[in-house]
Amino acid sequence: MEKLIITAAVTGSLPTKQKTPHVPISPSEIVEAGVRCEQAGAAVIHVHARNPKDESPSTDFQLFKEIYEGLKERTKLIIQISTGGRAGMAYEQRSDRLTLNPEMASLTTGSVNFPDSVYANSPELIERLARDMQAHGIKPEMEVFDVSMIRNAVELAEKGLAEAPLHFDFVMGLKGAIPATIENLVHLKNSIPAGSTWTVAGIGPAQLVVNTHAILMGGHVRIGLEDNIYFRKGELAPNERFVERMVNLAAEFGRPVATPDEARRIMHLKAR
Ligand code: ZN
Repeated sequence: MEKLIITAAVTGSLPTKQKTPHVPISPSEIVEAGVRCEQAGAAVIHVHARNPKDESPSTDFQLFKEIYEGLKERTKLIIQISTGGRAGMAYEQRSDRLTLNPEMASLTTGSVNFPDSVYANSPELIERLARDMQAHGIKPEMEVFDVSMIRNAVELAEKGLAEAPLHFDFVMGLKGAIPATIENLVHLKNSIPAGSTWTVAGIGPAQLVVNTHAILMGGHVRIGLEDNIYFRKGELAPNERFVERMVNLAAEFGRPVATPDEARRIMHLKAR
């Protein structure tokens, strides 16, 4: 089994300071969260930007740039920029951040209902983002909310718009998408092409459950306040504590944790 890659999704689009004081919002807070998560054992940081004034999800290129440059300066983390967009965000608003040339970016290969909106990713949008990533040598993390999205990702590879081995992130337990059962996790794992790597992101209380199984199944884990703010029932915690818990669990199960450079090799990232 390969070493365990821990991805920290520190911010996301939804958690606010009112919900948890631990969520980083400003670029400097996000960079500090990255530094602490790296110290705790994370290899990848999944990046969203927030409007520092009202905490809303932001498409502002300058914010992404500030976060990206801060993380590059202060950490060795693999920077994975989200190309996700809430309702109404056009291709241009979701793609200009790729010109920063991060090593990775997330690519959702289909549409899904979020609890209160439609997360729309048309075939055309997906292909354009995939082309941009290819042009910049960025490894896509295929963010799949359902089995059909695996098929769409494989089709991108068949069309020459993504290179094998593919890397997947299974997002499980979001209302409207695939439920976070172990049967479903096994099915997702069995549905990706041989040689692919995979990470799992469970939403809310599913986070710890699916991550624990991923450690045992040879997958990788995503933690962080984007997906879950509760360390345990009623107890909030900062991102790095969630990283620490994964490091401790992995040690219990005898699985060493990957450094950022080891993660680069495991996921076949292009040399920079
Ligand atoms: Zn995200």
